[in-house]
Amino acid sequence: MTAIGIVKTLLELNRAQWLPTEELRRRSEARRLRLLRHAVQNVPFYRGLDINHLPVMDKSAYRNHPPEAFAASNLPAQRRMEKATSGSTGVPFRFEVDRAALPVAFASQLSYDSWIGLRPFDRCLRIAVPPPPGSGGLRMLPWLQRVHDRFTQDRISIWDIDAGRAEDIWRRIEACRPEFVFGYTSTLATMADLLLRRGLRLSRSLRGVIATAETLSPPRRRLIEQYFQAPITNRYGLREFGWFSAQSCAASPERFHVNTELAVCEILRPDGSLAEDGETGRIVLTDLWNYARPFIRYDTGDLAARPEGSCSCGRGFPLLGPIDGRTDECLTTPANRVIRPGSLAYYLFVYNRHTDDVRHYQIVREGNRRVTLLVVPGDAWNESAAARLRDEMSKLLGPGVEAGVRTVAEIPPERSGKRPIIKTLEEVH
Ligand SMILES: [Zn+2]
Repeated sequence: MTAIGIVKTLLELNRAQWLPTEELRRRSEARRLRLLRHAVQNVPFYRGLDINHLPVMDKSAYRNHPPEAFAASNLPAQRRMEKATSGSTGVPFRFEVDRAALPVAFASQLSYDSWIGLRPFDRCLRIAVPPPPGSGGLRMLPWLQRVHDRFTQDRISIWDIDAGRAEDIWRRIEACRPEFVFGYTSTLATMADLLLRRGLRLSRSLRGVIATAETLSPPRRRLIEQYFQAPITNRYGLREFGWFSAQSCAASPERFHVNTELAVCEILRPDGSLAEDGETGRIVLTDLWNYARPFIRYDTGDLAARPEGSCSCGRGFPLLGPIDGRTDECLTTPANRVIRPGSLAYYLFVYNRHTDDVRHYQIVREGNRRVTLLVVPGDAWNESAAARLRDEMSKLLGPGVEAGVRTVAEIPPERSGKRPIIKTLEEVH
Protein backbone atom coordinates (compact mmCIF):
# COMPACT_ATOMS: atom_id res chain seq x y z
CA MET A 1 0.00 0.00 0.00
CA THR A 2 1.36 3.34 -0.98
CA ALA A 3 1.26 6.58 0.99
CA ILE A 4 -1.94 7.40 -0.90
CA GLY A 5 -3.34 4.07 0.27
CA ILE A 6 -2.56 4.93 3.88
CA VAL A 7 -4.24 8.35 3.56
CA LYS A 8 -7.29 6.75 1.89
CA THR A 9 -7.55 4.17 4.69
CA LEU A 10 -7.23 6.93 7.27
CA LEU A 11 -10.02 8.97 5.65
CA GLU A 12 -12.16 5.84 5.43
CA LEU A 13 -11.62 5.02 9.13
CA ASN A 14 -12.36 8.60 10.10
CA ARG A 15 -15.59 8.49 8.11
CA ALA A 16 -16.59 5.04 9.38
CA GLN A 17 -16.56 6.02 13.07
CA TRP A 18 -19.68 8.15 12.52
CA LEU A 19 -21.64 5.60 10.46
CA PRO A 20 -24.73 4.00 12.02
CA THR A 21 -23.88 0.91 14.11
CA GLU A 22 -26.01 -1.31 11.90
CA GLU A 23 -24.17 -0.24 8.76
CA LEU A 24 -20.84 -0.82 10.49
CA ARG A 25 -22.01 -4.28 11.50
CA ARG A 26 -22.81 -5.11 7.86
CA ARG A 27 -19.42 -3.84 6.72
CA SER A 28 -17.48 -5.89 9.27
CA GLU A 29 -19.65 -8.96 8.62
CA ALA A 30 -18.74 -8.80 4.91
CA ARG A 31 -15.04 -8.56 5.83
CA ARG A 32 -15.38 -11.39 8.35
CA LEU A 33 -16.99 -13.73 5.81
CA ARG A 34 -14.24 -13.00 3.29
CA LEU A 35 -11.58 -13.84 5.89
CA LEU A 36 -13.36 -17.02 7.02
CA ARG A 37 -13.73 -18.26 3.42
CA HIS A 38 -10.05 -17.61 2.88
CA ALA A 39 -9.23 -19.54 6.09
CA VAL A 40 -11.25 -22.67 5.26
CA GLN A 41 -9.67 -22.76 1.82
CA ASN A 42 -6.06 -21.91 2.60
CA VAL A 43 -5.24 -22.33 6.29
CA PRO A 44 -4.44 -25.97 7.23
CA PHE A 45 -6.07 -25.81 10.69
CA TYR A 46 -9.34 -24.46 9.28
CA ARG A 47 -9.34 -26.31 5.93
CA GLY A 48 -12.72 -27.82 5.19
CA LEU A 49 -14.41 -26.61 8.40
CA ASP A 50 -17.89 -25.06 8.40
CA ILE A 51 -17.45 -21.27 8.60
CA ASN A 52 -20.50 -21.03 10.84
CA HIS A 53 -18.94 -23.22 13.51
CA LEU A 54 -15.30 -22.25 13.76
CA PRO A 55 -13.90 -22.93 17.23
CA VAL A 56 -12.98 -20.30 19.80
CA MET A 57 -9.20 -20.43 20.26
CA ASP A 58 -7.12 -19.25 23.18
CA LYS A 59 -3.34 -19.12 23.47
CA SER A 60 -3.14 -22.64 24.90
CA ALA A 61 -5.20 -23.99 22.02
CA TYR A 62 -2.87 -22.30 19.52
CA ARG A 63 0.13 -23.79 21.26
CA ASN A 64 -1.26 -27.29 20.79
CA HIS A 65 -0.60 -26.97 17.06
CA PRO A 66 2.56 -26.11 15.14
CA PRO A 67 2.61 -22.47 13.93
CA GLU A 68 2.44 -23.73 10.29
CA ALA A 69 -1.08 -25.01 10.95
CA PHE A 70 -2.25 -21.39 10.95
CA ALA A 71 -0.21 -20.10 8.01
CA ALA A 72 -2.17 -19.43 4.82
CA SER A 73 -0.72 -21.63 2.08
CA ASN A 74 -1.65 -19.30 -0.78
CA LEU A 75 0.36 -16.31 0.45
CA PRO A 76 4.09 -15.86 -0.07
CA ALA A 77 6.32 -16.23 2.99
CA GLN A 78 7.36 -12.59 2.76
CA ARG A 79 3.81 -11.55 3.68
CA ARG A 80 4.45 -13.05 7.13
CA MET A 81 6.40 -11.32 9.85
CA GLU A 82 7.17 -13.33 12.96
CA LYS A 83 6.43 -11.96 16.41
CA ALA A 84 6.00 -13.40 19.87
CA THR A 85 3.90 -12.56 22.88
CA SER A 86 4.49 -13.24 26.53
CA GLY A 87 0.74 -13.42 26.91
CA SER A 88 -1.33 -11.62 29.54
CA THR A 89 -2.79 -15.02 30.50
CA GLY A 90 0.53 -16.71 31.21
CA VAL A 91 0.88 -18.56 27.90
CA PRO A 92 3.71 -17.36 25.65
CA PHE A 93 3.51 -18.14 21.94
CA ARG A 94 4.87 -17.16 18.56
CA PHE A 95 2.66 -15.91 15.77
CA GLU A 96 2.86 -14.03 12.52
CA VAL A 97 1.43 -10.75 11.41
CA ASP A 98 0.46 -9.92 7.83
CA ARG A 99 2.83 -7.37 6.37
CA ALA A 100 0.06 -6.22 4.04
CA ALA A 101 -1.86 -5.03 7.12
CA LEU A 102 0.91 -2.76 8.44
CA PRO A 103 -0.33 0.32 6.55
CA VAL A 104 -3.81 -0.29 8.01
CA ALA A 105 -2.25 -0.39 11.45
CA PHE A 106 -0.57 2.97 10.87
CA ALA A 107 -3.75 4.52 9.45
CA SER A 108 -5.71 3.26 12.47
CA GLN A 109 -3.19 4.84 14.84
CA LEU A 110 -3.60 8.21 13.11
CA SER A 111 -7.36 7.79 13.18
CA TYR A 112 -7.44 7.03 16.94
CA ASP A 113 -5.13 10.02 17.45
CA SER A 114 -7.58 12.26 15.61
CA TRP A 115 -10.37 11.36 18.08
CA ILE A 116 -8.44 13.18 20.78
CA GLY A 117 -7.12 16.10 18.77
CA LEU A 118 -3.65 14.59 18.30
CA ARG A 119 -2.70 15.78 14.82
CA PRO A 120 -0.16 13.95 12.59
CA PHE A 121 2.53 16.57 13.30
CA ASP A 122 2.04 16.91 17.06
CA ARG A 123 4.88 15.70 19.24
CA CYS A 124 4.28 12.59 21.30
CA LEU A 125 6.45 10.93 23.96
CA ARG A 126 6.17 7.15 24.03
CA ILE A 127 7.19 5.22 27.13
CA ALA A 128 7.48 1.53 26.28
CA VAL A 129 9.58 -1.61 26.59
CA PRO A 130 12.44 -1.90 24.06
CA PRO A 131 11.70 -3.86 20.86
CA PRO A 132 13.18 -7.40 20.89
CA PRO A 133 16.71 -7.61 19.45
CA GLY A 134 16.72 -8.57 15.77
CA SER A 135 13.04 -7.75 15.32
CA GLY A 136 13.84 -5.14 12.71
CA GLY A 137 12.08 -2.47 14.80
CA LEU A 138 11.29 0.61 12.79
CA ARG A 139 12.69 -0.82 9.56
CA MET A 140 9.63 -3.04 9.21
CA LEU A 141 7.19 -0.13 9.15
CA PRO A 142 5.80 1.59 6.05
CA TRP A 143 8.12 4.44 5.01
CA LEU A 144 5.48 7.08 5.69
CA GLN A 145 5.18 5.84 9.26
CA ARG A 146 8.96 5.84 9.66
CA VAL A 147 9.09 9.47 8.54
CA HIS A 148 6.15 10.36 10.78
CA ASP A 149 7.64 8.61 13.81
CA ARG A 150 11.07 10.11 13.25
CA PHE A 151 9.78 13.67 13.35
CA THR A 152 7.03 13.41 15.93
CA GLN A 153 7.71 10.48 18.27
CA ASP A 154 10.17 10.63 21.12
CA ARG A 155 10.69 7.23 22.68
CA ILE A 156 11.83 6.14 26.14
CA SER A 157 12.49 2.42 26.55
CA ILE A 158 12.20 1.10 30.08
CA TRP A 159 11.66 -2.19 31.89
CA ASP A 160 10.77 -0.73 35.25
CA ILE A 161 10.20 2.59 36.94
CA ASP A 162 11.76 4.06 40.05
CA ALA A 163 12.31 7.58 41.36
CA GLY A 164 15.40 8.12 39.19
CA ARG A 165 13.72 7.01 35.98
CA ALA A 166 10.60 9.03 36.75
CA GLU A 167 12.82 12.06 37.09
CA ASP A 168 14.55 11.25 33.77
CA ILE A 169 11.15 11.10 32.08
CA TRP A 170 10.13 14.39 33.71
CA ARG A 171 13.34 15.98 32.34
CA ARG A 172 12.66 14.56 28.91
CA ILE A 173 9.13 15.97 28.90
CA GLU A 174 10.45 19.35 29.97
CA ALA A 175 13.10 19.28 27.22
CA CYS A 176 11.07 17.82 24.34
CA ARG A 177 7.76 19.47 25.19
CA PRO A 178 5.47 16.79 23.78
CA GLU A 179 1.77 17.53 23.37
CA PHE A 180 0.85 13.96 24.34
CA VAL A 181 2.38 11.19 26.43
CA PHE A 182 1.71 7.54 25.61
CA GLY A 183 2.49 4.71 28.04
CA TYR A 184 1.42 1.70 30.08
CA THR A 185 -1.24 2.62 32.58
CA SER A 186 0.68 1.34 35.63
CA THR A 187 3.91 3.04 34.52
CA LEU A 188 2.18 6.40 34.06
CA ALA A 189 0.43 6.09 37.43
CA THR A 190 3.61 5.07 39.29
CA MET A 191 5.56 7.84 37.62
CA ALA A 192 2.84 10.39 38.49
CA ASP A 193 2.90 9.23 42.11
CA LEU A 194 6.71 9.48 42.39
CA LEU A 195 6.86 12.92 40.75
CA LEU A 196 3.97 14.31 42.81
CA ARG A 197 5.79 13.23 45.99
CA ARG A 198 8.99 14.91 44.85
CA GLY A 199 7.15 18.05 43.82
CA LEU A 200 8.51 17.86 40.26
CA ARG A 201 5.69 19.41 38.29
CA LEU A 202 5.45 20.00 34.56
CA SER A 203 6.06 23.60 33.59
CA ARG A 204 3.70 23.29 30.65
CA SER A 205 0.57 21.16 30.59
CA LEU A 206 0.04 18.39 28.08
CA ARG A 207 -2.95 18.15 25.75
CA GLY A 208 -3.55 14.52 26.60
CA VAL A 209 -2.31 11.23 28.00
CA ILE A 210 -2.84 7.91 26.23
CA ALA A 211 -2.84 4.93 28.59
CA THR A 212 -2.73 1.34 27.46
CA ALA A 213 -2.19 -2.33 28.37
CA GLU A 214 -3.72 -2.38 31.85
CA THR A 215 -6.87 -1.45 33.72
CA LEU A 216 -7.25 2.27 34.30
CA SER A 217 -8.47 1.83 37.88
CA PRO A 218 -9.90 4.88 39.72
CA PRO A 219 -6.71 5.35 41.85
CA ARG A 220 -4.53 5.19 38.75
CA ARG A 221 -6.79 7.60 36.88
CA ARG A 222 -6.66 10.04 39.79
CA LEU A 223 -2.85 9.99 39.97
CA ILE A 224 -2.37 10.41 36.22
CA GLU A 225 -4.93 13.25 36.02
CA GLN A 226 -3.52 14.96 39.07
CA TYR A 227 0.01 14.93 37.72
CA PHE A 228 -0.46 15.52 34.01
CA GLN A 229 -3.50 17.79 34.35
CA ALA A 230 -4.75 16.49 31.02
CA PRO A 231 -7.54 14.20 29.79
CA ILE A 232 -6.71 10.47 29.67
CA THR A 233 -7.61 8.28 26.74
CA ASN A 234 -7.60 4.53 27.21
CA ARG A 235 -6.60 2.22 24.35
CA TYR A 236 -7.23 -1.51 24.25
CA GLY A 237 -5.27 -3.79 21.99
CA LEU A 238 -3.51 -7.11 21.63
CA ARG A 239 0.09 -7.50 20.61
CA GLU A 240 -1.08 -10.29 18.30
CA PHE A 241 -3.17 -7.88 16.23
CA GLY A 242 -0.62 -5.15 15.68
CA TRP A 243 -3.11 -2.35 16.36
CA PHE A 244 -5.55 -1.19 18.97
CA SER A 245 -9.00 -2.73 18.70
CA ALA A 246 -10.79 -0.14 20.81
CA GLN A 247 -10.41 3.30 22.33
CA SER A 248 -12.31 5.33 24.92
CA CYS A 249 -13.84 8.69 24.05
CA ALA A 250 -14.39 11.84 26.09
CA ALA A 251 -18.08 11.03 26.59
CA SER A 252 -17.44 7.46 27.84
CA PRO A 253 -14.01 7.56 29.49
CA GLU A 254 -14.56 4.29 31.38
CA ARG A 255 -15.62 2.40 28.27
CA PHE A 256 -14.27 1.65 24.81
CA HIS A 257 -15.56 2.02 21.26
CA VAL A 258 -14.73 -1.20 19.39
CA ASN A 259 -13.29 -0.42 15.97
CA THR A 260 -15.45 -2.74 13.90
CA GLU A 261 -13.49 -1.81 10.78
CA LEU A 262 -10.54 -3.73 12.24
CA ALA A 263 -11.99 -6.46 14.42
CA VAL A 264 -15.18 -8.34 15.24
CA CYS A 265 -15.85 -8.60 18.96
CA GLU A 266 -17.99 -11.32 20.52
CA ILE A 267 -18.80 -11.47 24.23
CA LEU A 268 -19.20 -15.12 25.20
CA ARG A 269 -20.57 -16.92 28.22
CA PRO A 270 -18.54 -19.78 29.77
CA ASP A 271 -20.59 -22.27 27.69
CA GLY A 272 -19.65 -20.46 24.48
CA SER A 273 -23.05 -18.88 23.80
CA LEU A 274 -23.39 -15.15 23.13
CA ALA A 275 -23.85 -12.97 26.22
CA GLU A 276 -26.73 -10.49 26.35
CA ASP A 277 -26.10 -6.76 26.47
CA GLY A 278 -25.06 -5.85 30.00
CA GLU A 279 -23.89 -9.40 30.77
CA THR A 280 -20.17 -9.87 31.45
CA GLY A 281 -18.40 -12.49 29.36
CA ARG A 282 -15.10 -13.29 27.68
CA ILE A 283 -13.88 -10.91 24.98
CA VAL A 284 -13.38 -12.96 21.81
CA LEU A 285 -11.92 -11.09 18.83
CA THR A 286 -11.45 -11.78 15.12
CA ASP A 287 -8.76 -9.76 13.37
CA LEU A 288 -10.23 -8.73 9.99
CA TRP A 289 -6.90 -7.92 8.30
CA ASN A 290 -4.40 -10.69 9.01
CA TYR A 291 -4.70 -13.00 6.00
CA ALA A 292 -1.24 -14.50 6.46
CA ARG A 293 -2.00 -15.99 9.88
CA PRO A 294 -5.67 -15.43 10.66
CA PHE A 295 -6.74 -14.85 14.26
CA ILE A 296 -10.34 -16.05 14.23
CA ARG A 297 -12.50 -16.07 17.37
CA TYR A 298 -9.47 -15.45 19.56
CA ASP A 299 -10.18 -15.62 23.29
CA THR A 300 -8.29 -12.66 24.76
CA GLY A 301 -8.60 -13.79 28.39
CA ASP A 302 -10.19 -10.42 29.23
CA LEU A 303 -13.73 -9.95 30.51
CA ALA A 304 -16.26 -7.23 29.72
CA ALA A 305 -19.92 -6.54 29.06
CA ARG A 306 -21.42 -4.70 26.13
CA PRO A 307 -23.33 -1.85 27.74
CA GLU A 308 -26.86 -1.11 26.58
CA GLY A 309 -27.49 2.01 24.56
CA SER A 310 -25.14 4.13 22.49
CA CYS A 311 -22.61 6.82 23.30
CA SER A 312 -23.50 10.50 23.38
CA CYS A 313 -20.40 11.31 21.28
CA GLY A 314 -22.31 9.99 18.26
CA ARG A 315 -19.79 7.38 17.14
CA GLY A 316 -21.34 4.27 15.64
CA PHE A 317 -18.55 1.99 16.86
CA PRO A 318 -20.26 -0.10 19.56
CA LEU A 319 -19.40 0.39 23.22
CA LEU A 320 -17.58 -2.19 25.35
CA GLY A 321 -16.53 -2.34 28.96
CA PRO A 322 -15.23 -1.42 31.41
CA ILE A 323 -12.75 -4.21 30.70
CA ASP A 324 -11.78 -6.43 33.60
CA GLY A 325 -9.38 -9.27 34.04
CA ARG A 326 -6.17 -7.87 32.73
CA THR A 327 -3.32 -8.83 34.96
CA ASP A 328 -1.71 -5.80 36.38
CA GLU A 329 -0.46 -6.03 39.92
CA CYS A 330 3.04 -4.56 39.83
CA LEU A 331 6.04 -5.87 41.67
CA THR A 332 8.10 -3.52 43.84
CA THR A 333 11.68 -4.63 44.47
CA PRO A 334 13.63 -3.82 47.69
CA ALA A 335 15.38 -1.07 45.70
CA ASN A 336 11.96 0.51 45.06
CA ARG A 337 11.84 -0.32 41.39
CA VAL A 338 8.33 -0.96 40.17
CA ILE A 339 8.10 -3.67 37.51
CA ARG A 340 4.96 -4.37 35.50
CA PRO A 341 4.13 -8.08 35.23
CA GLY A 342 3.76 -7.47 31.49
CA SER A 343 7.31 -6.10 31.26
CA LEU A 344 8.85 -8.97 33.22
CA ALA A 345 7.01 -11.56 31.12
CA TYR A 346 7.88 -9.74 27.89
CA TYR A 347 11.53 -9.49 28.99
CA LEU A 348 11.75 -13.24 29.61
CA PHE A 349 9.67 -14.65 26.80
CA VAL A 350 9.82 -12.18 23.94
CA TYR A 351 13.00 -10.17 24.47
CA ASN A 352 15.07 -13.18 25.59
CA ARG A 353 13.19 -15.63 23.36
CA HIS A 354 11.97 -18.26 25.81
CA THR A 355 8.60 -18.53 24.06
CA ASP A 356 9.06 -22.19 23.08
CA ASP A 357 10.55 -23.33 26.39
CA VAL A 358 7.43 -22.67 28.40
CA ARG A 359 3.78 -23.67 27.92
CA HIS A 360 2.32 -21.78 30.87
CA TYR A 361 3.89 -19.65 33.51
CA GLN A 362 3.10 -17.73 36.65
CA ILE A 363 5.31 -15.38 38.61
CA VAL A 364 4.86 -15.98 42.33
CA ARG A 365 6.07 -13.29 44.64
CA GLU A 366 6.63 -13.85 48.33
CA GLY A 367 7.05 -10.53 50.05
CA ASN A 368 9.61 -8.27 48.46
CA ARG A 369 12.57 -10.58 48.41
CA ARG A 370 11.64 -13.77 46.68
CA VAL A 371 10.21 -14.25 43.20
CA THR A 372 9.63 -17.71 41.76
CA LEU A 373 8.72 -18.42 38.18
CA LEU A 374 6.41 -21.44 37.95
CA VAL A 375 6.79 -23.12 34.61
CA VAL A 376 4.80 -25.77 32.80
CA PRO A 377 7.61 -26.92 30.48
CA GLY A 378 7.26 -26.66 26.72
CA ASP A 379 8.90 -28.78 24.03
CA ALA A 380 12.21 -26.92 24.15
CA TRP A 381 12.55 -27.00 27.95
CA ASN A 382 15.79 -28.20 29.54
CA GLU A 383 18.05 -27.45 32.48
CA SER A 384 19.99 -24.80 30.63
CA ALA A 385 16.76 -22.96 29.77
CA ALA A 386 15.91 -23.02 33.49
CA ALA A 387 19.31 -21.62 34.41
CA ARG A 388 19.10 -18.90 31.79
CA LEU A 389 15.59 -17.90 32.90
CA ARG A 390 16.78 -17.68 36.48
CA ASP A 391 19.75 -15.49 35.50
CA GLU A 392 17.61 -13.22 33.35
CA MET A 393 15.06 -12.80 36.12
CA SER A 394 17.83 -11.91 38.59
CA LYS A 395 19.19 -9.39 36.13
CA LEU A 396 15.88 -7.60 35.75
CA LEU A 397 14.80 -7.82 39.39
CA GLY A 398 18.14 -6.55 40.63
CA PRO A 399 20.06 -7.21 43.84
CA GLY A 400 18.21 -8.17 46.99
CA VAL A 401 15.65 -10.37 45.22
CA GLU A 402 16.05 -14.13 45.20
CA ALA A 403 14.89 -15.43 41.81
CA GLY A 404 13.88 -19.05 41.40
CA VAL A 405 12.44 -21.25 38.66
CA ARG A 406 10.29 -24.28 39.46
CA THR A 407 8.62 -26.65 37.02
CA VAL A 408 5.04 -27.71 37.75
CA ALA A 409 2.51 -29.91 35.97
CA GLU A 410 -0.07 -27.12 35.77
CA ILE A 411 -0.84 -23.61 36.98
CA PRO A 412 -3.88 -23.92 39.23
CA PRO A 413 -6.58 -21.25 38.81
CA GLU A 414 -7.58 -18.95 41.65
CA ARG A 415 -11.01 -19.25 43.23
CA SER A 416 -12.17 -16.59 40.75
CA GLY A 417 -11.16 -18.90 37.89
CA LYS A 418 -8.44 -16.50 36.74
CA ARG A 419 -4.76 -17.34 36.48
CA PRO A 420 -2.96 -14.09 37.26
CA ILE A 421 0.52 -13.85 35.76
CA ILE A 422 1.76 -12.37 39.02
CA LYS A 423 0.56 -13.93 42.23
CA THR A 424 1.44 -12.41 45.57
CA LEU A 425 1.79 -14.62 48.63
CA GLU A 426 1.87 -13.23 52.11
CA GLU A 427 5.40 -12.98 53.45
CA VAL A 428 6.17 -15.81 55.85
CA HIS A 429 7.96 -14.68 59.02
ZN1 LIG B 1 -18.23 7.89 22.57
